[in-house]
Amino acid sequence: MDCIFCKIIAGEIPCAKVFEDETVLCFKDIQPSAPIHYLIIPKMHISAASEITSENSAVVARIFEVAAEIARNEGISDYRVITNCGEDACQSVFHLHFHFVAGTKLGWGKDFAR
Ligand code: 5GP
Ligand code: ZN
Repeated sequence: MDCIFCKIIAGEIPCAKVFEDETVLCFKDIQPSAPIHYLIIPKMHISAASEITSENSAVVARIFEVAAEIARNEGISDYRVITNCGEDACQSVFHLHFHFVAGTKLGWGKDFAR
């Protein structure tokens, strides 16, 4: 499958790793839109939030646990976790991912830190 995030998981494309366990990987976004901008992804290929089902949703809970763990470890109290679903919502990589953004006062609206 030609999926850039599956290739990152497989180690075929390098990334700046922040956290990894059996089911989840977190790495720095290559084009950060905030001082802290990580991507948290399931190792299992799920193409978008619209493909989350009762069969695979446990990994989504794990992703939010990992987000909270990373925040605690890095002393981050305020952060945003978001996923873009579909092209009209600015999804550009079709492997489910959650943007973890922090490190500044985030706006809300069209130009918030993604
Ligand atoms: P989306 O636009 O789908 O919500 O988010 C995709 C994100 O993946 C973008 O913020 C983009 O900068 C990031 N990205 C795309 N390709 C790579 C890559 O090869 N490495 C890393 N670390 N981030 C990537
Ligand atoms: Zn994938």
